[in-house]
Amino acid sequence: MAKQLYITGASSGIGEATAERFVKEGANVVLAARREDRLKDLQEKLSGGNGKAVYKKTDVTSEKEMKELAEFAINEFGQIDVLFNNAGLMPLSFMKNTKVDEWDKMVDVNIKGVLYGVAAVLPHMIERNEGHILTTSSVAGHEVMPTGAVYCGTKFAARVIMEGMGKELAESNIRTTSISPGIVQTELTDTITDEDAMSFLKDGVGLGSMTPLASEDIAEGVFYAVNQPPHVDVNEIIIRPTNQG
Ligand code: NDP
Repeated sequence: MAKQLYITGASSGIGEATAERFVKEGANVVLAARREDRLKDLQEKLSGGNGKAVYKKTDVTSEKEMKELAEFAINEFGQIDVLFNNAGLMPLSFMKNTKVDEWDKMVDVNIKGVLYGVAAVLPHMIERNEGHILTTSSVAGHEVMPTGAVYCGTKFAARVIMEGMGKELAESNIRTTSISPGIVQTELTDTITDEDAMSFLKDGVGLGSMTPLASEDIAEGVFYAVNQPPHVDVNEIIIRPTNQG
């Protein structure tokens, strides 16, 4: 497998596991996120793999940095086959608690970050008439729950943007995929500051009693979608823990 890809949100969780999966199989991967120390550690960890990992500190809310990231990836590896738009935040909260700063952040990272990723790489892919853009949506991009009005909104948006773009690109060889995980054990819930939301999630939704997936389970889905033959475009994947309703 000789794929060149770049992954946002590669400093932890699903992005990190996906980078590991691909480098192990011989792909060249650019790791992107804000925490440079974590990216550096991951690069070192992956240095014995069959592929190569390099990193670039990037904030997905900056259109400029996302453009520079795409240029860096193309310069490093000559071309980009795959963009995995995976960075995301999930500060769940009840609307009545008006966490406007957190709403802003979710829109900036989960929607605008995806759009900046697309804008930075799509011209390159159109020029080559080849490429694959994947975005991490969520089960929350298919169904809405209390505390998730804004988060779910951003994940619906990410999924719909991928679907709409896929339809526009139907005449090309460029593929688009939304990956929709259920509950995965990562650092994602660390951004929740609304205590009402935390109690609701633990007691009301029963998250505490579910067995979450591992990031590697989602990485496997990404790997599957990317490694289909060129005429197969896996547009949507939903991966839930078996005991998640
Ligand atoms: P993590 O918190 O482990 O990973 C989130 C990643 O996003 C980190 O690498 C973080 O890196 C990065 N990130 C956040 N903000 C920015 C930013 N402004 N610029 C660049 N990178 C940023 O959680 P997950 O691995 O779970 O999350 C990955 C994706 O999966 C998200 O889109 C999330 O919404 C989605 N998802 C997760 C589920 C779960 O249950 N865990 C379920 C469904 C979807 P850094 O802080 O270093 O910038």
